Amino acid sequence: ARYDIATLKTRLGGIRTEENPALVKQKSRDFFWYSPILKRQLDHVVADIVVSPTSEAEVVQVLAACHELGIPVTPRGTGTGNYGQAMPLSGGVLLDLSGFNKVKEIAAGRYVAEPGAIMARIDDETRAHSRQELRLHPSTYQTASVGGFIAGGSGGVGSIKWGGLRDWGNIIRLKVATMEKSPRILEFSGEDLHKVAHAYGTNGIITEVEMPLGPAYNWTDVIIGFEDLRAATEFANAVGEQDGLALKNLCVVAAPAPHDYFLRHRKFLPRDSHLVIVMAADFAVDALCAYARRFKGAELLLRTDKLAPEDAKGLPPAYELGWNHTTLRALRVDPSITYLQVLYPFPNQVELVDKIHARFGDEVTCHLEFVRFDGKITCFGLPLVRFTSEERLEEIMAIHEEMGAPIFNPHRYTLEEGGMKQTDETQLAFKREADPQGLLNPGKMIAWEDPSYDYRSGKTFLFRSLAEAG
Ligand code: FAD
Repeated sequence: ARYDIATLKTRLGGIRTEENPALVKQKSRDFFWYSPILKRQLDHVVADIVVSPTSEAEVVQVLAACHELGIPVTPRGTGTGNYGQAMPLSGGVLLDLSGFNKVKEIAAGRYVAEPGAIMARIDDETRAHSRQELRLHPSTYQTASVGGFIAGGSGGVGSIKWGGLRDWGNIIRLKVATMEKSPRILEFSGEDLHKVAHAYGTNGIITEVEMPLGPAYNWTDVIIGFEDLRAATEFANAVGEQDGLALKNLCVVAAPAPHDYFLRHRKFLPRDSHLVIVMAADFAVDALCAYARRFKGAELLLRTDKLAPEDAKGLPPAYELGWNHTTLRALRVDPSITYLQVLYPFPNQVELVDKIHARFGDEVTCHLEFVRFDGKITCFGLPLVRFTSEERLEEIMAIHEEMGAPIFNPHRYTLEEGGMKQTDETQLAFKREADPQGLLNPGKMIAWEDPSYDYRSGKTFLFRSLAEAG
């Protein structure tokens, strides 16, 4: 055995553990298999034991014991991340935080919760308490934890109004436990949040979150079709700039993907129709439809507030057609599909989308998510890609970058390669302080594993102990 799990168990008191190999394997995985490349690299990865603390004191107890015994700890919320972020590349403890999940306080404009709280359950409570709701949630709202969202996600539903998690004010305060002999509990707000937000849990375990709330509206889904992708993109961009429409999500999916992959919605969707899918407040829907009539070729295909009950039955909400749910629905129908994450920088986004999709044709199907990015409306892309080979996928990414659209590579498990392709000095400095032995989620931060790594080499970083994992 690589680690002294038997001694660890004697240090854990009443904290729940799980060693059944099938269950440990299940908890050692996330949605990494979305990527054919990560699937090849990470399929064998497995922890030695799952430990499930339900309080801050229990988290501290687990960390202290693992620190003393030199056992790696990889935190997990509910494992819906799709870059292998929560996969234990060096084995050891899988720290399951899903049972550490209470909403502790709700006030005007904010709430305090434990990290394992599920986004949709938090929303239930804040709506019931004072008609407030989460500003931002991933499309995995029904299953994802807030701690996992902050440590591993970026934004999503709500980003059309509020921007992303990285934007100022979208996280208020975090409590973090360090990986030391006597773990400390630190509180971060303002600038310090950058130390641990989107750090994949490599430099601290989030034990409490304080997050902002917005007014809870009744959201209506509206789908508008266009014969021409450019017209759909222009309309979506224009809708995004209408702040009065009170939007929650705004995306574009090119034909024929919606008809082919959105099976429950299929009867509403002509196969040659490029869709603009909008979540708007119920009071704004008439205005939205009136605005659409000013755009040539716009065809109203669906508005859920006018649906007969028998037609509404079983329809997923619009946010489950967007973000990575678009990819999920495509994959279910056609396993040869994979995807990319693209930024089309303001102010040339509409032009760039047009040029790039003209270049690739059917090999890359357009999927845009409109967001407010540094105050400006622009779009991210999660285009669907017909996968042929890893080389071709790399080539498609390189062409995007040459054409001026940066890629956030979803086929990499390291922070740097999936992000800005450079060392995050703030996160690295905090790791030196909070996890001096390098035991938290090993292999995910290149700057820690290999300080001399050259990001321009074009090579994929391979974590040395990955071959032995499992
Ligand atoms: P996990 O996958 O369990 O963990 C994510 C990362 O956070 C891991 O690195 C883990 O080690 C770390 N972590 C977890 N808890 C803690 C903690 N308490 N302290 C420190 N580190 C911790 N993401 C988006 O941002 N927007 C989207 O719209 C979106 N849509 C998605 C759609 C689909 C269909 C899928 C499969 C994924 C999508 N994701 C999206 C990715 C993911 O679902 C979200 O980011 C989600 O919020 C992650 O939460 P989780 O609890 O599943 O985290």
